[in-house]
Parts: sequence; C-alpha cells; structure tokens
Amino acid sequence: MPEGHKTHFLARQHTGWFAGQALSVTSPQGRFRGDARKVSRKVMERCEAVGKHLFYHFENDRLIHVHLGRYGKYRTHSSPPPAPVGLVRMRLVGEARSLDLNGPTTCRVIDQHTRREVIGKLGPDPLAEGSSARKKRLVWEAVRASRKPIGALVLDQSVIAGVGNIFRAELFFELGVDPRLPGAALDKATFDSLWKSLVKMMRTGLKYGKIVTVTAKEARAPLATLEGRDRFRVYGKASCPRCDRPIETIEIAARKLYWCPACQG
Ligand SMILES: [Zn+2]
Repeated sequence: MPEGHKTHFLARQHTGWFAGQALSVTSPQGRFRGDARKVSRKVMERCEAVGKHLFYHFENDRLIHVHLGRYGKYRTHSSPPPAPVGLVRMRLVGEARSLDLNGPTTCRVIDQHTRREVIGKLGPDPLAEGSSARKKRLVWEAVRASRKPIGALVLDQSVIAGVGNIFRAELFFELGVDPRLPGAALDKATFDSLWKSLVKMMRTGLKYGKIVTVTAKEARAPLATLEGRDRFRVYGKASCPRCDRPIETIEIAARKLYWCPACQG
C-alpha cells in the first residue's frame, strides 16, 4: 500500500501534468461514470495529498477523492491514451498526458464539506502544509494518552496520517525502540527523536518517489539507484545490519512488523 510520501509525490506530479487544463474524465469500467460527468471538461486546479488520500480540486468546487488502498494503481500515458487495460475505474485525459486508475479503494466526486470531514478524521500529516511544531504537539498528546503499543499508534491514521508498514518498521529500528512499548510509556526525548526521524524519512521518500532509509554510505551506492529491499535496513530483511542476528516479525495492529529484538530492547 502506498505510504504518505507516495501520495505527496503523485499530487505534485499530477498537479504538474494537469493543473489549469479542462480534463476529460471518464470511467471505462463504468463504476465511476456518473461521478465523472460532474467534473469532466472542467478545469482542474490542483491535486492535493493528505495522508494516504488524494483530492483533485476542480473549478466548480467539486473534487475527485482517491484512496489507492492495497490494490489501487495508476498508469500514465501520453495523450490521447491507448485502449484501457483491465478494469479502469477512472481515466483522466489532459493536453499532453493521460492517466488510468485501476483498483482503488475509493474513487468518487465529493464537495468541500466532505473533504473537510475526511481530513477531520486524520491525525497530522508530517508532509502536509502547516506548522511542524503544532503537528508534533498533537501527535505527542495522542501518543502519551494511549496504552496501545507505539507500533500500533503510528499506523493509526487518526494519530499520524501517511505512515504505513515500511516506515513503521524502519522508524523503530533506526531508533532502537521496542514497538510493543505502550504510547504512555514513551519518554519525551524518545518521542522527539521518533518525530524527527519520521519527518526525515518521509521527506526523503517524497524526494525519490520511493522509501529509502539506508544512507548512501551504508548502501555503498547513490540512493536514487537503489531498488527493492536494498533501500531498507530491516523491512523484509533476513539479518540485522547492526548485530547480524536474524530479523524477526511480530504482528502489531494486524500487520507484520519486522524488527531486531536484540537491537530494539
Ligand atoms: Zn540487531
């Protein structure tokens, strides 16, 4: 599932491709057809990311709301696009580019009121606009008030928006923190480091369009060239890069978490 760095990356890319253009919006598969008509041939102003949600703002105050979920996938084409492949829920055609969306969890046209409702249920997004100090304070208040494991809290989109399973594993490994620790047991200094590392990891992910948590020195290669699991320290790994003991997994918040019990005590 794409994490927050990816939605922000897509929002920048799609704004660059389509802002200021009257887009043709269709639904080759059919499920989005009625909604597509509400925004087709209207000018798209910008695409906005909040956590794992995308909002395409149109001149008539309507928005396309997309949540990719586990299976949602974009395909990009030049314009005009080729024949649709598979179940294309939404097709956006601009002047030079076009975009197909298959398999999203959410793809619908909404108004500003509904957008505010969706965002209102989310915790602060480290990559969204707004004061970082305020976001950090809100997340700290939610974390310290909870008995849930910190490994569950960071995945809870109402606590922090945009963190997924890879950022979670890499974050606790970098800090050497036991993910089973209850939020209320976390001291302020550890939380400060956690927030700092998370913001840095997400910004790096946004810069490269993919999660990269190793340093160039660790990888012995330029970060932009790294692919697959070479980009990570612990996620999907067999042995710990620090102590060489086996990496283990535990289930927290119904997702498998990779960790090194020796280094994260
Ligand atoms: Zn280790």
